[in-house]
Amino acid sequence: MSKKRTYSDRREYTIKAVAKRRKKIRLMALDYLGGKCCFCGYDRCSAALDFHHRDPNTKEFGLSQSGMTRSWERTRKELEKCVLVCSNCHREIHAGKLQLSEEIQR
Ligand SMILES: [Zn+2]
Ligand SMILES: [Zn+2]
Repeated sequence: MSKKRTYSDRREYTIKAVAKRRKKIRLMALDYLGGKCCFCGYDRCSAALDFHHRDPNTKEFGLSQSGMTRSWERTRKELEKCVLVCSNCHREIHAGKLQLSEEIQR
C-alpha cells in the first residue's frame, strides 16, 4: 500500500517537474523573442502567443507541444528562425493576409 503510494507520488512529482520546466523554457523563449506579437504588439496573454517559423518550408516549431522538453540551447537555435506572433496574427499569416516585412525577416 505504502509502496504504491510512493510510486504515484513520485510519478506526480515527475509530471509536475516536466510541466514546470516546459513553462520555464516557454517563458525564456517568449522573453528571447521580445515577449509580444511582432505585428500588433499584443502581449496581454502569453498563452495566446505563438512561435511562427519564418521559413515556410521548415516545419512549424511546435514549442507548445513536445518541442518544449528539448534543451534550451536547441530551443534557442530554433528560435533564431522564428518570430513571435499572437494567435490572431498567426492565423492571418497562414491565411495569406499578413506578410512578414523585410525588417522582421532580418
Ligand atoms: Zn506559423
Ligand atoms: Zn498580433
